[in-house]
Amino acid sequence: MFQHQSSFAEGSRCGVLQDRFCRSVTYLRVSVTDRCDFRCAYCMSERMRFLPRRDLLSLEELDLLCSTFVSLGVRKLRITGGEPLVRRDILGLFRALSRHLDSGLLAELTLTTNGSQLARHAADLAACGVRRVNVSLDTLDPARFAALTRRGSLGPVLDGIRAATRAGLRVKINTVALWGVNDDELFRLVDWCGGEGHDLTFIEVMPMGEAGAEDRQGWFWPLDELRQRLATRHHLTDVAETSGGPARYVRLETGQRIGFITPLSHRFCESCNRVRLTSAGELFTCLGREDRTDLRAVLRGAGLAALEPAIRAAIRAKPQGHDFDHDRLAQSSGCVRHMNHTGG
Ligand code: SAM
Ligand code: SF4
Repeated sequence: MFQHQSSFAEGSRCGVLQDRFCRSVTYLRVSVTDRCDFRCAYCMSERMRFLPRRDLLSLEELDLLCSTFVSLGVRKLRITGGEPLVRRDILGLFRALSRHLDSGLLAELTLTTNGSQLARHAADLAACGVRRVNVSLDTLDPARFAALTRRGSLGPVLDGIRAATRAGLRVKINTVALWGVNDDELFRLVDWCGGEGHDLTFIEVMPMGEAGAEDRQGWFWPLDELRQRLATRHHLTDVAETSGGPARYVRLETGQRIGFITPLSHRFCESCNRVRLTSAGELFTCLGREDRTDLRAVLRGAGLAALEPAIRAAIRAKPQGHDFDHDRLAQSSGCVRHMNHTGG
């Protein structure tokens, strides 16, 4: 496995990836599987149908694609899914990609996980140069957790978070703000993250794919309102720094940092520096659009040499902005892809 590693170890930069709107693409999010051990009610349906295994990129192909992006100026790689840590031998991919951290071409290798498998992988991830991990956690109530994830259990996730902290990883908690589901846990979650030393970011629920949830539209909780509620107990100071992404931050009087990702009520496209690769090798240059480039076909057809021009052409065509519409939350035709397909 990974016999092509050396060809990219010294990857020369032939100009950063830039789109028509002068945005540089320096951040790649990679979904390594669409499968998951949970069925979160806002993300996928109970009877989700996953891709046939032959459609998935092999770990070696994932390494080749990621390494090509790194050689073209991508500085940050986030591994996601589905649940990335349920993919067999996924640590092999982290190990392979860590060579780009060693060479200095890559500034950060990180992942987003539901935490269910984190306890057994945290130390190995740290050994691969991972320094931070985003863990999705929408509730601290075990019964609510089981209901929302439909098959998950809270205990192992909390164990995973503790193991990550012990391994020296910084943990950021991502919480989808769900009106009528976890709005009553706002202060509990903030206090818990503050006590444990984790950053916390709230995310507005997005119209991605049919999830079979009874009332995803009714769950939409604008983060402006969440923020107002937070301000009834805390003094909030806006933090200017952004990561080039959709999150905006405030600091509480305690020093704790809280993030807000508001794709629906505020557009963030003008500063977008990221693209997404699915586990089937499709390159999406915008989370909210259907435009895609089939890099698996390029890799398996014309071969490695054809990848760079294909990637450059896709980036040039990156749409100016996304196309989400809150009114379409109820409609499965809004954005038909699921979040586990594109990678959140
Ligand atoms: N399974 C991993 C996890 O849950 O962290 C990684 C993949 S998951 C698709 C990435 C993120 O997308 C999670 O934080 C999840 O809460 C978020 N997500 C999934 N569906 C969403 C939706 N419809 N709206 C907003 N966020 C969503
Ligand atoms: Fe799985 Fe993450 Fe989607 Fe939940 S949000 S079903 S953990 S991919």
